Amino acid sequence: MTSIVVLGSTNMDLVAFVPKAPARGETVTGREFRTIPGGKGANQAVAAARAGADVSMIGAVGADDFGARLRAALEGSGVDTDLLRTAEGPSGTAHIVVDDEGGNAIVVVPGANGTVTSLDHGDEALIATADALLLQLELPLSVVTEGAATARRLGVRTVLTPAPAQPLPPELLAVTDLLVPNEHEAAALTGIADPHAAAAALLTLVPEVVITLGAAGSLHAARDSEAFTVSAPRVRAVDTTAAGDTFVGALAVALGEGRAVREALAWASSAAALSVQREGASSSMPYRSEIDAAHGSLTGQEVDAV
Ligand code: ADP
Repeated sequence: MTSIVVLGSTNMDLVAFVPKAPARGETVTGREFRTIPGGKGANQAVAAARAGADVSMIGAVGADDFGARLRAALEGSGVDTDLLRTAEGPSGTAHIVVDDEGGNAIVVVPGANGTVTSLDHGDEALIATADALLLQLELPLSVVTEGAATARRLGVRTVLTPAPAQPLPPELLAVTDLLVPNEHEAAALTGIADPHAAAAALLTLVPEVVITLGAAGSLHAARDSEAFTVSAPRVRAVDTTAAGDTFVGALAVALGEGRAVREALAWASSAAALSVQREGASSSMPYRSEIDAAHGSLTGQEVDAV
């Protein structure tokens, strides 16, 4: 079985649904409140586990009720949490206000995630067993860089989702094998709006790039091959939260299984398309049997050289 380690964040999403978001100094009455386990690291871990890999998570939850729930949610999807620390103080939280037009405003408080500043021998031994290490930017950049450098030294493929968008240190790019930004992150990193041109620019920094393009699919570019796009299945999207994390988790599993790159992108697209047809973040992520069924029913996705 493909073995994946995620070095990343866990957050409890605290979501208030309101007719209209409050202005500064204003109080509004919301319609509904939900607490939803999230964080980009945890979301990718759940996506990869449901897609059929053996997944372990390195990171930290807080010593509070949210921490216990975040850990239980990961375990409920089959993610190994033996090396997920419990830090003193609060868990990471994301305070989200969603208005009736679907717009949102978010405050992320890193909490326990901010305490993950270095790796130990146990983490390193775990990474050594993996086919891939998945990383995002919701832990301190220093530990993300250390994790990627450790994986590189051990010959383990590193897959970096550069979100939330921020400038990437050269030391991190130097140990990134596959970079998977969405088109906004690709534009933020390069200053180039066109995804094809942005991908070409990113290839001067890393050897392989996949840019996700929302409903338009995804674009693959590598130094040693011609760029191509894979279209997304046409579906009715009800909630695109964590579509990118579902895509990355499934992509890492497919690549870990040795599937051809085009096929891996198409399979990941099938997974992400399932997730956008359901409400929620990790709760909307499909299991392997569902991905296989949806993928098999597609009458040949378009794959275009560009
Ligand atoms: P993020 O969630 O990081 O913003 P994207 O919006 O690019 O990333 O979505 C990631 C992937 O999810 C896309 O490459 C695509 O495969 C899938 N996806 C997103 N939105 C849709 C949609 N409306 N219909 C079908 N697939 C979608």
